Amino acid sequence: MFSSNIGKPDQESHALVIGGSIAGLLAAQVLSKYFHRVTIIERDRLSEQPEQRPGVPQALHFHILLKRGLDVIEQLFPGIQNELPASGAIAINASANFLWYGIGGWTPRFNSDLNVYSLSRNLLECMIRRRLFANKRVVFVQAAIVESLLSNSNKTQVTGVRVRQKLDSKQDTYPRQTDFTADLVVDASGRNSHAPQWLEAIGYKPPQETVVNSFLGYTSRLYQLPENFSADWLGVLVTAKAPDTRGGVLTAIEGNRWIVTLVGVGRDYPPTDEAGFLNFARSLRNPIIYETIKDAQPISPLTAYHRTENRWRHYEKLSRLPSGFVLLGDAVCAFNPVYGQGMTTAANAALLLDECLSQQLSRHAHGNLVGLSQNFQKQLSKIIAVPWMMATSEDFRFATTVGGRPSLMTQFMQIYLDQVLLLAADSADLHKLFLEVMHLLKPPSVFFHSTVLKQVLQRIIKESSQKSNRTEDRLLVDH
Ligand SMILES: Cc1cc2nc3c(=O)[nH]c(=O)nc-3n(C[C@H](O)[C@H](O)[C@H](O)COP(=O)(O)OP(=O)(O)OC[C@H]3O[C@@H](n4cnc5c(N)ncnc54)[C@H](O)[C@@H]3O)c2cc1C
Repeated sequence: MFSSNIGKPDQESHALVIGGSIAGLLAAQVLSKYFHRVTIIERDRLSEQPEQRPGVPQALHFHILLKRGLDVIEQLFPGIQNELPASGAIAINASANFLWYGIGGWTPRFNSDLNVYSLSRNLLECMIRRRLFANKRVVFVQAAIVESLLSNSNKTQVTGVRVRQKLDSKQDTYPRQTDFTADLVVDASGRNSHAPQWLEAIGYKPPQETVVNSFLGYTSRLYQLPENFSADWLGVLVTAKAPDTRGGVLTAIEGNRWIVTLVGVGRDYPPTDEAGFLNFARSLRNPIIYETIKDAQPISPLTAYHRTENRWRHYEKLSRLPSGFVLLGDAVCAFNPVYGQGMTTAANAALLLDECLSQQLSRHAHGNLVGLSQNFQKQLSKIIAVPWMMATSEDFRFATTVGGRPSLMTQFMQIYLDQVLLLAADSADLHKLFLEVMHLLKPPSVFFHSTVLKQVLQRIIKESSQKSNRTEDRLLVDH
């Protein structure tokens, strides 16, 4: 039975979140509206400072928080945007001071309302975590690993989790076993979530998985921003253009530093040795990143990351799910990170959890969460579908990508999008629209609005008439 106090947060009820990273923190904030206590169980020890920790190895690499994600995080933590610059985060206008060498060359630069922040992933997580540390309903249990789910006797409801905890910070093992009971358990334990095995252990089927892998690898490093450096930009992105496999990004972050991440698709992994890294940077379609870092002072080791496959666990398709258990963040769907969608999708999932809990509690008597799990996972799959389509259709441009072949629709989208991007190289309006889709503010269907469609058709007609003129000229010369 669920506590009848759910939705009345001044009376005893308990939610538990597995994983204290971005998805877990955002979910915990939402849960604290409905539950008297929220416990976040995190394997790592967590600091008040933006320190690197083992549970999020990806934090050593470039992370962009898309505009949609920033807006949602501001909604969940009012005022946090104003705290970011004070903490060192750098305000960036995505269309004005972030250079982009895209498939049609340099994109246009202009001021827009696409204001975001450049900061390390560790600082972003730390800023959110501090808000949760200050939330009186939220408790962190640190250095603790969730091992399994607890359920009621007929296994229809998850009633908590079994946890192993470290006894002191020097230990590598987690000897103390404790059971935590809760009305709702949220799995936000990331790409390596053990939820499929946990569910099997209490008599449920594991979800089907869809995996699309372009075998993209990251290598990253921090540099000291040179004292005499001056430029009219704060970041630069050079994208890979299939069949060319290489790309890279450099941005200023807090602490007068640059983060530089080089990427290679199809196992063309950027090297982790000094000379190899620089040579890789020089080999990009545009050498601007190499030119910027070649004489700069590195201040971190070179770090590689290769677990970048798109992996979607289809909990929404399961015919049975226990009540009292939902999943979100990378635990449900981890994207190829190069498109920067993970944190924003986790933020959208947190908002959805808010909506679903609110509807559930207005429809049913307080405390009845039956049906919430399936409803939430089904709605979440609709949110995931758009970034999934965007990420996988880009990955399918590379012949080395595994996980099926692009459908005719995807192939059409790729060709159509190429036309939009080529047009966007000379059109601020189209580039803005493209950025809005990339930042998950608008759906990709906006590319098919009549004004865009007309421009694409005109371009295709112009190109094919130029092609046929060239052929006629060649035929005349041949005669
Ligand atoms: C190289 C790379 C670059 C990326 N770049 C971007 C980007 O530019 N923009 C973007 O939006 N996203 C990016 N992402 C994705 C982003 O990091 C994630 O989507 C985001 O962190 C949300 O993940 P999460 O909170 O679901 O899981 P994670 O961040 O993976 O966190 C899972 C947490 O759960 C804890 N945990 C795991 N198992 C247990 C357990 N059994 N018990 C207790 N605790 C547990 C871990 O210690 C960890 O703290 C990138 C990812 C990678 C790999």
